[in-house]
This record gives sequence, structure tokens and C-alpha cells, in this order.
Amino acid sequence: QPLEQVVTDPIEVAATQHDARHPRIPAPRDLYRPDRVNSAGLDLGDPDAVAALYRAMDAADHHQVLRVQDATPAQVSSAIAAAADAFPAWDLTPAVRRAQCLETAADQLEAHLGELVALCCREAGKSIPDGIAEVREAADFCRYYAARAREAFAAPLEFPGPTGERNQLSLHGRGVFVCISPWNFPLAIFVGQVAAALAAGNTVVAKPAEQTPLIAARAVELLRTAGIAEAALQLVPGDGPSVGAPLVADPRIAGVAFTGSVATARAINRRLAERDGPIVPLIAETGGQNAMVVDSSALPEQVITDVLQSSFQSAGQRCSALRVLFIQEDVAERMLTMLAGAMAELRIGAPWDLATDVGPVIDADAQQALAAHCARMDREARLIYRCPLPPETASGSFIAPVAYEIDGIEQLEDEVFGPVPHVVRYRADALDEVIAAINGTGFGLTFGVHSRIDRHINLLTAADRAGIRAGNRYVNRNMIGAVVGVQPFGGEGLSGTGPKAGGPHYLPRFAVERVRSFNT
Ligand code: GLU
Repeated sequence: QPLEQVVTDPIEVAATQHDARHPRIPAPRDLYRPDRVNSAGLDLGDPDAVAALYRAMDAADHHQVLRVQDATPAQVSSAIAAAADAFPAWDLTPAVRRAQCLETAADQLEAHLGELVALCCREAGKSIPDGIAEVREAADFCRYYAARAREAFAAPLEFPGPTGERNQLSLHGRGVFVCISPWNFPLAIFVGQVAAALAAGNTVVAKPAEQTPLIAARAVELLRTAGIAEAALQLVPGDGPSVGAPLVADPRIAGVAFTGSVATARAINRRLAERDGPIVPLIAETGGQNAMVVDSSALPEQVITDVLQSSFQSAGQRCSALRVLFIQEDVAERMLTMLAGAMAELRIGAPWDLATDVGPVIDADAQQALAAHCARMDREARLIYRCPLPPETASGSFIAPVAYEIDGIEQLEDEVFGPVPHVVRYRADALDEVIAAINGTGFGLTFGVHSRIDRHINLLTAADRAGIRAGNRYVNRNMIGAVVGVQPFGGEGLSGTGPKAGGPHYLPRFAVERVRSFNT
């Protein structure tokens, strides 16, 4: 089936309006040509195969086959109407059948690995390893939620009553779920939200980030080929004010899953509260002011490797990324010398170059915001190291990876969403103050500790409120890349509402519970 027919119904999907962000390849405008880049079976570890893939995409630049344009208000409304019409049938589809569709979708995603990786690189500036991880995670979400649907939705829970009554608790879809996803995981989080909502019996209206609609359009096509009815999954590309806002204000919707900024989560919450219609849930995953604490017992080489990964992988554009590194003052000088030395080895370059460690940031707006923050840090903080940018990055939206020493985490107003970690030195006897300062940010997404002293680890990661209040806490390892079903992911406080994505409590939040009691 031609791509255009699938993705243009009911919304006319059209090309991303994105600017060029890569030095050697023009903007991914009107470029998508699956028959040329479809690379099932491609060995992405083979540099020749990767080069061939990009040659194919270069050729595709000259063939306009897919255009993504913003949905109009009328299209948003008709997408909700179509999804609402499709809801009863999908909700009545046995959970096992819904799970099968998602398992087939996972197979489809994997079968199109090379093509999807290429799209992630081209549209979102992702590195090839990051692109592979996206496809892997998207497929994992489909299979994981399929398994949870089989477990929790296929048959009711039975509760025997004391008088011989039989009681059954069952889970059902809520209705039309709105999924609003971010550009930093344009495939994994997009598919994860949609798969969860569908698995639970909802139909979906999905608004991808305005920066990454092509990847979303392709994912929708693959989900539809896996048996998800067209009407049950509606794609409405566009930005927050013109598409997201009317979507969440609509009384016909039954819930919102959102990943993005705190400010937008608050705005959605307000709109949901003010609108007519049923009271519905918001599942929000937002940012973090993520810290790592390194004491004098930590293994320096391991710390540096983990700090580098946590700060610079995906150009620091992960909610989970390390923002503030607390180092015990006794070892700080040595650690910072090592950190600067390791940063000097980072390769900054094009996403598709397998040697690249740090690629571009998402767009010129992000580049400018990060540059403004760095200009402030240049005045107010001590520079630890700034990576030189190679000349070929001049035409892309690159930002030089840079580390600053600051006086305290309070010096940062907002999350700095890029390759810009900050370092704070702390006294050995001031661990309680460190905990208070980190908790004082109000965020609570990820946290890391490097130590070989059990007392420190236990204090920092205490289960009660005395420890760091963060959703994902990592001991003696990096703090990114939570694995679906293994490290359920999500925060508390300003970092989100929960439940955790990729965890056992996620799907029930997308559902209503009903109890039936039989007097027999
Ligand atoms: N789950 C991702 C990780 O553990 C982060 C997701 C996000 O950035 O929203 O790195």
C-alpha cells in the first residue's frame, strides 16, 4: 500500500518544516521514500552498509513522496470523532487480540530497523546507536504492554465474598486517549504511549512533537499494517498551541498521556480541569534536575565513563541525563582533571558517522537557548572544559559539550536540556545538605551515586523521605537508558505524575475498573 494513502487518512500528512541541522545533508524536507531506504536485514554494525543506507537517503532527497503538515482545527475535531466512533469495537476486541496486534507491530518495527534508524538520524539528529536503541525500545514497549494486557485485561480478577457471592474486577478502555510525545524519543516514546493506550482498549489521537512528525507518521503506518484499525489510531501533527491545546480541551477525550516540559504539563492540567465532560486522568512525564553524588571511595575511571555517558549521550537530550555532579572535595581536583581529559576525546560530528559521540541538538531554537545558558555560565561559573567544535559542524545545530563548576544546584533555574553538565564540590561531612539541596529542586526523576561505602549509598537512596526522592536511582553505574520491563521509568514531584512507563502499573492508569458482583 503506498505510504501516502496510509498516512494521509484522515489527516493530510505532509513534510516536516525542519531546518537543516546536519552539515553534509540538506534538510529532511519532503524526503521520505521507503522503497529506497527500506533496509530490512541491514547490518548496522557494518560501515559499508551504513554508508549505503545514507546514499539511499541522499537519493531520496530528490523525491517528494510524503508531506507532513499541521492538522487544522477541523481535522483535529474529525480525528477525535473518528477515534470515538472506533472505540466501542476496539474496546470489545479481546485483549489477547489487541496484544497480538502489538506483538506484530513490534515485529514490523524490527523488520524496518535500518529505515527507522535512518529516519531518527535524519529528522531528530540521533546517532546511529541512539537510533538503534529507539527501535529496540519501541518494540520492547509493544511487547511489554502486550504481555501486561494479556495478564491484566484478558480475564477478570475473582474475589470470593464471605456470603458466597462471586465478585469480578475487570479493566476496560476509557475512550479516546490523547498521546502527546516529545522529539527526544520520537519513536520510542511515541510508540510507547500509543501502544499502552491501545493495549488498554482505548482508541488514540496522537500528536507527535512538531519537530519529528515523519518518524511518527511512519510508526503509525507500521502499527496499522500490524492490524490496528485506521480509525483507532489517528495522527494529528502540529504544534502545541494549534493542535495540542484544542485536543486536550475537547470534552470527548478520556485521558491524556504526555511527555514534555513541566510548563506544558501544567497547562494541560489546567485545560483538563476547566473543560466540560468527564474528569479524566493526565499521565505526565516531565523533566528533571538530575544529580549524581561521587564520594572519595568511588572508582575514578568508572565515574568518568558513567558521567560521560550520562551527560553527553544523545547530546544530553534525555530527561534522565545528568545535570549536576556533586563531587566530594577531597577527590574533586583529580576527578575534574580526568573529566576534562575524557571530554577532550569526545568526537562531535554528524549523526550518521559511527565514530560520533555527540551529535547536534534538535534545532536552532534549542541551540540558541543552550548558547544563552552557556553565556551566563561563562560569566557566573568556572569553566572545567569546553570541547572544540570541528569546522564541519558550523552549519548544523551543534553545541560544544561543556562542563562548568557552580556553587550549588540552586544556581540553576531550569533544566538545561543539552550536553552541559554542572559540577558542585561538597564537604565530606555535608552529605545531608547535599540531599536537602537536591530534593529542594522539587524535581525527582533520576539520581546516581558512586560510592563503595554502604552507609553513604543507603543514606542517599533510603526508601523513606530522608533519601533522594527520585523515581530512578542508580548505584555505581550510569543513569540513563532505563530498560522497558526491567527499570520502569518515571519520576515524582515536578518530574511527573507516574505511573512509570515500561512498568507493571502503567496500563491500569489508561483503563477504568468495573466490578460485577453475583449473588448465586
Ligand atoms: N527512558 C529514558 C532513559 O532512561 C529517558 C526518557 C526521556 O528522556 O524522556 O534514558
